[in-house]
Amino acid sequence: MKAMLLTGIRKMEMRDVPEPKLVNSNDVKIRMSVLGICGSDIHYYTQGQIGSQKVQYPFSVGHEGAGVVVEVGNTVKRVKPGDKIAIDPAMPCYECDQCLAGRHHTCRNLRFLGCPGQAEGCLMEYIVMPEKSCFQLTGMLTGDHGSISEPLAIGVYAEKKSGSVNGLNTGIFGYGPIGMSVMLAAKEKGANKIYVTDLIDERLAIARKEGSSITGNPMKENIVGKIMHEEPLGLDVAFECCGKQEALDQAIELLKPGGKLIVIGIPEFERWSLNVEKTRRKEISLQFIRRQVDCVEQTLEMMKNGLISIDNMVTHRFPFERTKEAFDLVADYRDGVMKAMIDF
Ligand SMILES: [Zn+2]
Ligand SMILES: [Zn+2]
Repeated sequence: MKAMLLTGIRKMEMRDVPEPKLVNSNDVKIRMSVLGICGSDIHYYTQGQIGSQKVQYPFSVGHEGAGVVVEVGNTVKRVKPGDKIAIDPAMPCYECDQCLAGRHHTCRNLRFLGCPGQAEGCLMEYIVMPEKSCFQLTGMLTGDHGSISEPLAIGVYAEKKSGSVNGLNTGIFGYGPIGMSVMLAAKEKGANKIYVTDLIDERLAIARKEGSSITGNPMKENIVGKIMHEEPLGLDVAFECCGKQEALDQAIELLKPGGKLIVIGIPEFERWSLNVEKTRRKEISLQFIRRQVDCVEQTLEMMKNGLISIDNMVTHRFPFERTKEAFDLVADYRDGVMKAMIDF
């Protein structure tokens, strides 16, 4: 089968590799149909690592996938050949303290698709996953819904970890696919006003289409002043979704006393810095987010029931052979890209 492998910094090659086989009785073999490119894939493509996780070449990334079941092990019950499915890229052990506490996303023995040292990604024609990572796409749900359920579930989870945004004034700092996922979740959960910032104007235009009251580009305007003018008492909840120190600072500046700061972005640096005076005097609560847990099914349901629409999320599509072009486009933030998809 064909696999698209990273072979160096900003290098990628299509190679022939052996097809994966079922090993365990709960394994499911999947023919990939579509993959969404994630910011973390781009980190590995342009830098060869995220923090201490370093790529050993050749390696395949990709974890936002959907496909069709082609073969199942003899104990598999939840899917059968021919089913369209969303793939949850996390393969927890279900045995460690974290798993037993219901925190599968911080499993001590976690294997995650396209994560160096854990598992190859799904930029290949076939993959094998445990049954528990497979979620049937029923009704009007397409491969795009399946693939986008991965980042979207992170938005749904982040909103949940904030307590609730229902009736609250909310800020989203950074409007890539994760910021947009938070927006879609926050809207569905009844947030009052949603303020959005980003450095890319096309992304702000998408935010306005989704109903953001005020958007701003911090490169071009005093975003803190602009939002403060509308919201003199400050924001109730702020989601940092781009991994930038400036965005974290603006979020803290804009939060009201007792406000909640939810940090989802993956920075390229090693340490955040917090303004002691502002965080302490305002008694800001701080919550970091690590991917998501138990939100995929709920996210698929929300899309199926029309509570969340991803119509404005997918901006670009490429055939599998042209994956490198797609990665370059996303890496360079060209052409107003939000989510680029690869069709197999
Ligand atoms: Zn992702
Ligand atoms: Zn575990």
